[in-house]
Amino acid sequence: IPTEYQQALPILKKIEKAGHEAYFVGGSVRDVLLNQPIHDVDIATSAFPAEIKQIFPKTIDVGIEHGTVLVLEKAGQYEITTFRTESAYQDFRRPDHVEFVRSLKEDLKRRDFTINAFAIRENGEIIDLFAGLKDLDQHVLRAVGDPHERFFEDALRMMRGLRFVSQLGFDLENETFAAIKENHQLLKKISVERINVEFVKFLLGDYRKKGLQALVKSQCFEYCPGLAGMGERLLAFSKLPEKVIKNESQAWVLLIDQLAMEEKDIRPFLKSWKCSNELIKTVQGVFYGLQARKKANFSVDLLYELGENYAILVEELLPFYGLTADLAKVQADYHMLAIHSLKDLAVNGNDLMNYFAKKPGSWLKEQLTYLESAVLHRHVSNTKEELLHLAKEKMEK
Ligand code: ATP
Ligand code: MG
Repeated sequence: IPTEYQQALPILKKIEKAGHEAYFVGGSVRDVLLNQPIHDVDIATSAFPAEIKQIFPKTIDVGIEHGTVLVLEKAGQYEITTFRTESAYQDFRRPDHVEFVRSLKEDLKRRDFTINAFAIRENGEIIDLFAGLKDLDQHVLRAVGDPHERFFEDALRMMRGLRFVSQLGFDLENETFAAIKENHQLLKKISVERINVEFVKFLLGDYRKKGLQALVKSQCFEYCPGLAGMGERLLAFSKLPEKVIKNESQAWVLLIDQLAMEEKDIRPFLKSWKCSNELIKTVQGVFYGLQARKKANFSVDLLYELGENYAILVEELLPFYGLTADLAKVQADYHMLAIHSLKDLAVNGNDLMNYFAKKPGSWLKEQLTYLESAVLHRHVSNTKEELLHLAKEKMEK
């Protein structure tokens, strides 16, 4: 039993002592059985939310309408969710209404894949009602129950299936995959936000190549923003060197590059994926830097313009293009720059206005840009005296 579970054991024991059932469930169980690191520990219980709140003095209603209560204990913070069914589906989307039940089996039945439908008891006993252990062993992703029904209930499960192909390298079981291929158009009912979450995990998967091949074969990409008709390009993407992509912005940059998009198309594309403005800014910066870096080493100007973080993100992408990354050199070159921003310049706007006794205007920005470049290229040393002198020369020209 991993330490994350050890720590949470007192929570399960408390619930059981109060006469209810409690189990570890969801992705963490799958990851524990696969010997992989776990991120979040989910606990499921037969106790209703009000009963959980009686057992634990400190709780927060984080999703009470879905039966989830956050419990704050010495042992840590845990999300505890009451067993539930999601029987009333409409519109191929997850229902907003759920029904609490007392049976573990009912709760496990509503889960997407057999390898996500285990429960582990406080004593370590694994409850495996859908032969998930066998599927885990054989590296198979199989829908719990009838795949058609399950994808009709919630079409996002198809994207989740593809995401697990990319993360785990497992194969979708034949009937499950056939049901995805047949029903891929149901994805148009799903909100972009939910698809985005799965797609980003998909792009960052250790088995991206396998995932992309399945994504194309399933045709699910046709209902992803901006990807309709892009099957060939996605296959080209799958042929990039098999190296794990480290972070989300780099994943988008590589995808956008493989889609042969132009810089101006980046923003609308990422907006259609509902990405944040901050992410969009990073992707634009890294994409721009990458195009230049693919052709030549970083120039002083480009390093300065990009800043250290973007430059590193760019450099890390070179191996995807068969080029060698030298992160230490990028860092060293960056630190060698004479200045790292306009703030480092030995004169500022006020200094120049005082010196020339002039009001602000376009001349000021021109001067600052001129001096910035002169210092950056070491045509002048970064001292007030020399800079004012140079500014005067320029003014008199
Ligand atoms: P991750 O490791 O990325 O968190 P996960 O499997 O834990 O993967 P979550 O979205 O955290 O994914 O969901 C937790 C669990 O809830 C899943 O393991 C699965 O049992 C169930 N689940 C999540 N989304 C769905 C869905 N759309 N349909 C059915 N069951 C789902
Ligand atoms: Mg999870």
